Amino acid sequence: MSFSIGPTITTNLTAPPPWYMTPCYVWPWGTHPGGYRMVKVETGQKRYTHRVMYEQVKGLIPDGLQIDHLCRNRACMNPEHLEAVTQQENILRGIGPSARQARQAHCLNGHLFDRANTYMYKGRRQCKTCQYERNLRTRARAAARASG
Ligand SMILES: [Zn+2]
Ligand SMILES: [Zn+2]
Repeated sequence: MSFSIGPTITTNLTAPPPWYMTPCYVWPWGTHPGGYRMVKVETGQKRYTHRVMYEQVKGLIPDGLQIDHLCRNRACMNPEHLEAVTQQENILRGIGPSARQARQAHCLNGHLFDRANTYMYKGRRQCKTCQYERNLRTRARAAARASG
């Protein structure tokens, strides 16, 4: 099977995610609603390129599992960017506020969500810098009130 190498992913993350070093492989012909690519295999069947690729490199996809694109590029079939997950996991990752938050590299105020600046609260990532600044403001207000 031959394929062309598609555009690389651009990202503004300071710490590159593991797939950053390998570009997405995009099958250049044919599309499918939703951005996926399909190919005709030897049996004449039409199949998703990423599923074909995954099976060639990593083995059969277990029953009931879907292939998740870690790079979020649905046309991509780089096996390094593909992971077999349950449907529920795939939905959680792909849409919804928790999935969106999980992909965010910065807090609302632009502070980087790295190991040192992040803590978990009720299953969500929180920014330590923002928390620190909130504490300072609270203390300043309290001091202002106290001095009347
Ligand atoms: Zn990719
Ligand atoms: Zn912040």
